[in-house]
Amino acid sequence: MTNLLSIIVPCYNEEQTIQIFYDEVLKIKPQLKDMAVEFIFVNDGSNDNTLEVLQQLEKSDPEQVKYLSFSRNFGKEAALYAGLSHSKGEFITVMDVDLQDPPGLLPEMYELIQTKKYDCIGTRRVSREGEPKIRSFFAKKFYKIINKISDVNIVDGARDYRLMTRQMVDAILELKEYNRFSKGLFSWVGFDTYYLEYENIEREKGDSSWSFWQLFVYSLDGIVAFSEFPLVLSAFIGVISFIVSILALLFFFIRAAVFGDPTTGWPSMICIILALGGLQLFCLGIVGQYLGKTFLETKRRPIYILKEKSESFDK
Ligand code: UDP
Ligand code: MG
Repeated sequence: MTNLLSIIVPCYNEEQTIQIFYDEVLKIKPQLKDMAVEFIFVNDGSNDNTLEVLQQLEKSDPEQVKYLSFSRNFGKEAALYAGLSHSKGEFITVMDVDLQDPPGLLPEMYELIQTKKYDCIGTRRVSREGEPKIRSFFAKKFYKIINKISDVNIVDGARDYRLMTRQMVDAILELKEYNRFSKGLFSWVGFDTYYLEYENIEREKGDSSWSFWQLFVYSLDGIVAFSEFPLVLSAFIGVISFIVSILALLFFFIRAAVFGDPTTGWPSMICIILALGGLQLFCLGIVGQYLGKTFLETKRRPIYILKEKSESFDK
């Protein structure tokens, strides 16, 4: 019996890279021995000709190529979810289309997962060459922080690129949350993961669609999704400043009782009021983050909306 490998590929404005990606994967396919593959390309509301390219590709290879197309841009996380929920393979891999996730690793990953010792073979970049320096710096800090303050363990440099068993993917699909932070979800479901290491590879064509600001917001989302620590921190700051103010009050009270009351200290009072007001707003902001996420989750909106998909999905 041949096994089926599902390859999930989110695509956002990737008309230039899809064909190259497809050719590269087919080149290494013979090394996967008895494995049949199905490509599931997810067009995440691209504004270029991604959809047309996918339709063409499906026509040229209807046996192996399928696509899903969203009604608008829902983000890579939603695209991954859509792809995973449409996959049928016994093994499933998720890959970026820009070849930053080298298909050349697949045979090795496949071999490792065949040993049945692992449920997931992940990949990890050990270098970040070709990436802006401050980006790497903040990325490193982010991994440090999130690993400290949440129960999930996210390996530094781990990519979304991984090969998983059906069992693990089914577990991930059980998590139906709207704010999806895949790196956290992959880790949260548990199972045994082995990380293959490789050097960073620069994007094949086109540009990364992430700006620094988007990455920053994404990392905050990750923290809010997987840690309650900021809430604890805000409560802690509140308690500390309360204790400090009580001590200060006692100090001033005793000083006034012993040395008389010279009614000075107006500027320092203003500073204290401002500082406390700022802290309150800061903590309120943290609470607001969580409340906002809860608000979105309670609406139970679908994670994505399909506009079109390959007919072969219904077979
Ligand atoms: N992507 C997506 N939706 C988005 C942004 C990106 O499906 O809103 C896809 C993109 O087409 C690519 C992958 O996610 O296949 C990674 O994107 P990119 O290369 O821009 O990110 P980076 O490698 O810089 O993290
Ligand atoms: Mg990329």
